[in-house]
Amino acid sequence: MSPTGIEIYKFLPRTNCGECGVPTCLAFAMSLAGGRAELSSCPYVSEETKLKLEEASAPPVRTVSIGTGIYSFKIGGETVMHRHEKRFEHQSGIALLLSDNLTETEQNTKLTAFNSFQYKRVGAILKPDMLALRADSGSSEKYLKLVKLAAEKCQASLMLICANTTVLDESLKICAERKPLLYAATAENSNEMAELAKKYNCPLVAKAKNLTDLAELTIKLQSLGIKDIVLDSSPASFKQTLADNIAIRRAAILKKFRPLGFPVINFPCLITSDHMKESLFASILTAKYAGILVLSDFRGETLFPLLVARMNLYTDPQRPLATTEGIYEINNPDANSPVMLTCNFSLTYFIVAGEMETSRVPCYLLIKDTEGLSVMTAWAAGKFGADTIGKFVKNSGIAGKVNHRKLIIPGYASMESGGLEEELSGWEIMVGPREAAHIPAYLKQFKP
Ligand code: SF4
Repeated sequence: MSPTGIEIYKFLPRTNCGECGVPTCLAFAMSLAGGRAELSSCPYVSEETKLKLEEASAPPVRTVSIGTGIYSFKIGGETVMHRHEKRFEHQSGIALLLSDNLTETEQNTKLTAFNSFQYKRVGAILKPDMLALRADSGSSEKYLKLVKLAAEKCQASLMLICANTTVLDESLKICAERKPLLYAATAENSNEMAELAKKYNCPLVAKAKNLTDLAELTIKLQSLGIKDIVLDSSPASFKQTLADNIAIRRAAILKKFRPLGFPVINFPCLITSDHMKESLFASILTAKYAGILVLSDFRGETLFPLLVARMNLYTDPQRPLATTEGIYEINNPDANSPVMLTCNFSLTYFIVAGEMETSRVPCYLLIKDTEGLSVMTAWAAGKFGADTIGKFVKNSGIAGKVNHRKLIIPGYASMESGGLEEELSGWEIMVGPREAAHIPAYLKQFKP
């Protein structure tokens, strides 16, 4: 169990110097226990204490980093069974399986498709993460060619699926700096695989035919110095995959059973040959604890919903998605362009900005920080009232960008118009539409 604030406090210097950004050591200990601070913020904690605290506060599912650069990602680090208890920490990585049995043209087509699958949604880029390169041909030459091609054409994180450790070693010479995930250590080859993982500092998949053997294998791998482990329990069906994932998570979180305290990898591509079923399985396993999902193919109509489902599951339910406060220019505005105001709840921002863009009217959008709350909720919480909006508009610099003094506020904030005219002397407060869909028509009739 993670140490409490009081337990952590006992290890701190208790000088209350404030250098960590909070006034007292007790406040810092409480923040640390709540996951709102990093131990490194206190410069006076000894190395020995750091080690003790890090060990005591390590999450029951180890965090494993995969890859480097823009496609690198983390898995694990989970502390709860259910999202509503706190949050899920690191979203499942999504991998595309690529066999060295494919022709070079087919491999190129898949790599090009992989690179093209990127979607922008509520300010985030949604994209797959990884290429799983599998040695099927039995030819080392073919496999090395595939690894080289994938490393050259794609910046994705890599997983090397190869049972021959000599070929794996050769592959790592091509792409070791990408810190690929190695697949897989078994009871038979664990010594050789552990050697390779240590030599190239790569995470390693531990694979066994049941959870008992898997736990034995991770104990052995850890004794060989391997810390970054991903679990594969080799389930043969979707039902077994789900059962194993839940059993592993329960063992790690509820029983604090360290040998199974690692993220898991699932292969929906191996348990069905039906693409729709594969996508359905993947979406269920995203919610039920998959660290990495390996898919046989990417198609926009199934990948996009999976990426969105993943994003929704892995956002913090206690923290609304928020956009940065400021002035947003839409359709190249000038000094006569209308100025609209709204809150910084991401969904509101993207809907309002989208309608403003659609109108083709050049305009400014003022986004006021409401801590991610929507207009009505922020208003009810006192974060979207005339006083705070007035202060924000004055400090925003919008007065220097337009010749007129007209501010359009959301229809749902109409009750603040009188107060705002008092706060913003010289400004005319106009009440905009309640529904975002009516924004284009409203903007088109605006006169400065
Ligand atoms: S920096 Fe360290 S010693 Fe200073 S108040 Fe923070 S926790 Fe205490």
